[in-house]
Amino acid sequence: MSDLPPENEFDVAIIGAGATGLAAACAMAMEDLKIICFDKIFGFDGELKGDTRTIALLQNSVYLLQNLGVWDDCRPFAEPLNIMKVVDDTGRFPPVPDASFDASELGADPFGYNIPNDRLVSILAEHARDNPNITLFETDHVTSIENLAKMAVVTPFEGNSVTASLVVGADGANSLARRAARITTTDWKYNQTAMACWFSHSQPHNGISTEFHRKSGPLVLVPMQGNKSGLVWVETPEEANRLMALDDTGFKEQLSAATHGELGNLLELSQRSAFPLSGLVANSFGKGRTVLVGHAAHVLPPIGAQGLNLGLRDAAMIADIASKAQMLSADPGGPDVIAKYDELRRGDILSRAFTVDFLNRSLIHGWFPPLQATRAIGVQLLKLIPPLRKAVMREGIAPQSHLPPLMQSR
Ligand SMILES: Cc1cc2nc3c(=O)[nH]c(=O)nc-3n(C[C@H](O)[C@H](O)[C@H](O)COP(=O)(O)OP(=O)(O)OC[C@H]3O[C@@H](n4cnc5c(N)ncnc54)[C@H](O)[C@@H]3O)c2cc1C
Repeated sequence: MSDLPPENEFDVAIIGAGATGLAAACAMAMEDLKIICFDKIFGFDGELKGDTRTIALLQNSVYLLQNLGVWDDCRPFAEPLNIMKVVDDTGRFPPVPDASFDASELGADPFGYNIPNDRLVSILAEHARDNPNITLFETDHVTSIENLAKMAVVTPFEGNSVTASLVVGADGANSLARRAARITTTDWKYNQTAMACWFSHSQPHNGISTEFHRKSGPLVLVPMQGNKSGLVWVETPEEANRLMALDDTGFKEQLSAATHGELGNLLELSQRSAFPLSGLVANSFGKGRTVLVGHAAHVLPPIGAQGLNLGLRDAAMIADIASKAQMLSADPGGPDVIAKYDELRRGDILSRAFTVDFLNRSLIHGWFPPLQATRAIGVQLLKLIPPLRKAVMREGIAPQSHLPPLMQSR
């Protein structure tokens, strides 16, 4: 492949332009790495309506967007999250007390901000488009990735291969980059489906995000701009099918009952989407010349707003490691970079995957009395012991070690 024209040679090829791929592109381009990013579409033109998820971006993800110069464009669409309330709605014994976590206990900043996912992706895509170090390559899909000794070769469906020192697999749960690097996964299914939409309501949300813990899974209300909230509602697939088939009036009635009228009358309701839940963790986060970020590396149930926040930490970490290698005139996709990324991301990803899976299973299998009792005692201790509560809140926002500089407040 050495006879490829020079314009087809890049430092980094990013497969996938969801939030993690685009954040990785913007972060690496700041350090003068030459990037090519492949996807079918980049952001969304016109009316934003395809993706009804909203994303609770925790503090360090917001710092990342600030450091990338993207946050000022996101802020008008983002709502601060000041209080997180957890309500036990399982009806099981012993009852778990309600708990509220207030961001002001940790300092002046909110826990984070909630923003529509499609808006976030669009804004990141606009910034990537304006960056001379980033080439956005529209393709139906990338069809092959070869991890060779001195470079990787990436071929889109339409032909015209390019070479890159490093491949970033940001191509989602069914990642081609992961398969091409021969990285295996540990994966599992949940008998659950998450429904996502947003709605407006008559009562103000007051910056409070409420997580109802129910026997079928969590139901989460996340504040949005105005008197609106994002909804993630996890049910069995059969119940989710039933609820998805209801007309808007019927769905709002069920939602109002499930949330005990928490936000008053439910008014406008967006389109709804359903996501069957599964879990996946790659057995390695880097191999050959490829590293995995976001859903390509880990898929978790939507509890505690961990998924994309974890993915953005992946993106910031590979940007940090690869740009340091480039500064030292080393190979940004060489074995040292790949091994370091794998080592530094392992603890954060595995511990979050374990915690989220445990929390989810403790809801579904709560008939097991010791599990319910453990939850009840745990919440009571958090309520009674402020230093423990603060430590858990800090760790819930982000790991306190190995946070790349781009994810820290400047
Ligand atoms: C209901 C719900 C609510 C959630 N809420 C939150 C939350 O509040 N906070 C949070 O942190 N996380 C949340 N998450 C998780 C979050 O949505 C995901 O972590 C995040 O979207 C993953 O982004 P990604 O860029 O890694 O992958 P994706 O968004 O899946 O993007 C992958 C991209 O790769 C492209 N692609 C795939 N294959 C190829 C190929 N061969 N060639 C080229 N391109 C390719 C696709 O077109 C796509 O654009 C939620 C998830 C769900 C389901």
